[in-house]
Amino acid sequence: KIYYDADADLGLLSDKTIVFLGFGNQGAAQAQNLRESGIPNENILIANRVDAYAEDAKSKGFRVEHDFGKAGEVADVLFLLIPDQAQPRVFNEQVAPRLKPTAAVVIASGYNVFFKLLNFQATQDVIMVAPRMIGSSVRSLYVKGKGFPCFVSAEQDGTGQALPIALSLSRAIGATRAGAIASSAKEETMMDLFAEQALWPNIIVLFREAFSVLKEAGCSDEALCYEMWMSKEPAEIFERAAEDGFVDQLKHHSTVSQFGQLSGALALDGAATREQFKQILYNQVLNGKFCSEFSQIEEDLEKEGDANPLNVLYKRSESMELAQAEKRVRARLAGLV
Ligand code: NDP
Repeated sequence: KIYYDADADLGLLSDKTIVFLGFGNQGAAQAQNLRESGIPNENILIANRVDAYAEDAKSKGFRVEHDFGKAGEVADVLFLLIPDQAQPRVFNEQVAPRLKPTAAVVIASGYNVFFKLLNFQATQDVIMVAPRMIGSSVRSLYVKGKGFPCFVSAEQDGTGQALPIALSLSRAIGATRAGAIASSAKEETMMDLFAEQALWPNIIVLFREAFSVLKEAGCSDEALCYEMWMSKEPAEIFERAAEDGFVDQLKHHSTVSQFGQLSGALALDGAATREQFKQILYNQVLNGKFCSEFSQIEEDLEKEGDANPLNVLYKRSESMELAQAEKRVRARLAGLV
């Protein structure tokens, strides 16, 4: 089901205090959109630690509260827009104990709700309004009078009003202009984690191995980097796929290319990939294995140097032949400027 502006009643928000916990990518964009949809500024409160994000909110004319507990106490609606890995700690310890029993909590990603990492009261509403765009696009499309793709769901209906509130909020941030898609925290999390842990790792491996084979066959670093991604051809292909269709975009390519791509794809047996994808989906994503392993390293992600596991992964990835070659190409290009 797809919900449009006509399905949503902005009047449901008229007497509500709306708190944005976090004024980053999504928080800044959504709060500004909501205000420009007619929600009075005095009904909006930004909760943020004392720093540049808080200053940014003040400079845009918003009221700012630095104490998350106090912000939680006044919230009828609380948008939880801080990074996913920080949400359980911050929400459960500082906000949840002081949140009204009838408050609506809005998440922009299903992860913490699907894996049950946030503590809600049964009387509260839990709503997902999850834009499929980065914050700057959520804002720029709204300013242009356009909508953006967004998933919406009522995950817990404590007040009996969770879905109507979810739709009003979706409309207020501009998401129902182009149609907000009915989804769920499970579906959103499943697709997100699958893309991140199965689809894109395979794409990285395909590029890595293609690079090595062609390099071994005598292709130069420059030719390979430009042929494979620096020309932005892959970006253009996906842009065309979004506009013309996943298969129909091929019609923009030469006949040799179309024939090679279609006959090649049809000849490849995807059975091993499908099996690997299923393993990752069921035995790593949906069974919570990744989530519990990630929870164990989450605090280390704020550390410096090799104590941060993400830095270690970056270091290991830098040793890929493709990454080394790209470094050389970019250094030579910089020398030409
Ligand atoms: P950001 O990384 O932009 O969030 C930054 C905000 O979170 C700042 O206000 C920052 O304040 C605050 N923050 C960060 N760490 C902490 C902490 N430990 N305690 C308190 N405040 C903290 O987040 P996003 O906007 O990217 O993501 C917010 C939500 O939106 C997530 O659930 C994400 O999955 C979802 N989402 C994000 C999209 C995107 O494009 N980025 C797209 C769709 C959904 P401070 O300066 O004090 O750290």
